[in-house]
Amino acid sequence: MKYVDEFRDRDLARTLATAIAAAADPARDYNFMEFCGGHTHAIFRYGVQDLVPANVRFVHGPGCPVCILLARRLDDAIELAERHGVILCSYGDMLRVPGTGRRSLLKAKADGADIRMVYSTLDALDIARANPGREVVFLGIGFETTTPPSAVAIAQAQAEGIGNFSVFCNHVLTPPAIRHILEAPEIDPSQAARLDGFLGPSHVSAVIGSRPYEFLAARYAKPVVIAGFEPLDVMQSVLMLIHQVNEGRVAVENQYTRVVTRDGNAKAQELVTRIFELRPSFEWRGLGSVPDSALAIRAEYAAFDAEKRFTLSEKQSRETKSCECPAILRGVKKPKDCKLFGKACTPETPMGACMVSSEGACAAYWTYRRMETLAEMAAE
Ligand code: SF4
Repeated sequence: MKYVDEFRDRDLARTLATAIAAAADPARDYNFMEFCGGHTHAIFRYGVQDLVPANVRFVHGPGCPVCILLARRLDDAIELAERHGVILCSYGDMLRVPGTGRRSLLKAKADGADIRMVYSTLDALDIARANPGREVVFLGIGFETTTPPSAVAIAQAQAEGIGNFSVFCNHVLTPPAIRHILEAPEIDPSQAARLDGFLGPSHVSAVIGSRPYEFLAARYAKPVVIAGFEPLDVMQSVLMLIHQVNEGRVAVENQYTRVVTRDGNAKAQELVTRIFELRPSFEWRGLGSVPDSALAIRAEYAAFDAEKRFTLSEKQSRETKSCECPAILRGVKKPKDCKLFGKACTPETPMGACMVSSEGACAAYWTYRRMETLAEMAAE
């Protein structure tokens, strides 16, 4: 296959759907967590759930980078722009996410803060070069996929001696979050037991490879299939997971071989290791404190670390009351379980991050399953 259309071919989808239906044992359930929000959207956008038997279920995981950022960290970013007067650069997804009191970066911008949407960390560096008299902070969020660009920007700023650029680092790691889902006491233990396997992230795995998931098979006996984002990728991966479960096999398999290798991108990993180090613990929305799950900028690069350059105040930050994002991110609730879905909370008036981000589960249900979800809510 050479073109993206071929990964959306109707006849191949039907063939795969038939194979999944034949392989799925009607006497049991299959609960597969798709960690990544990109997979959640692919499943909804292409109706993959409708192409698999009812006993094959998708459990949505916490892999939406915007959704898992705590209100407190967002409040800190707003403080950097408002109190410290920096030019705060952020990817567009972050701008509408509500922090404490439903205040967002966009609202702070409307109130006069200098907050700018960028498409890359290098755009933020350009802004720093063009404004030598101002401090420029890049709001670094996301998983292993978005960490290398932040590392590149810091390395470049150091090489060029750009002294007014820093990164507010909120980069997080996928494997520790999956481990936490499987063993953290605050997560419903029956949930972890019910999970029969994982659809592994695509883009993250392009960077870290498939090797870092091998502990899931070895220690937790959970099958993993690294899956691409196209609908046929997802369906083929589901079939591979079902085969593992049926055969009692537990392995890390790679469906996304056109991009992912076992060892990933060594150059990106080396750069990330050079610039960043592990935080002993980091608090995720929905998951709480997760050990070794996030990165901080190494002391050698402290000049480019916004948390070291600026003093941030202690805050009484609050997540939006009644928003079920935390439980949705743990996979224990679905958007239909939130009373606010489609009422107070819509993409135009988001009450929580899961409705804002293009990778959020609530946004996926709203975009592709709105009427069905509202009907289910009304019937309950
Ligand atoms: S519908 Fe809105 S308020 Fe409810 S969980 Fe989703 S984002 Fe939060």
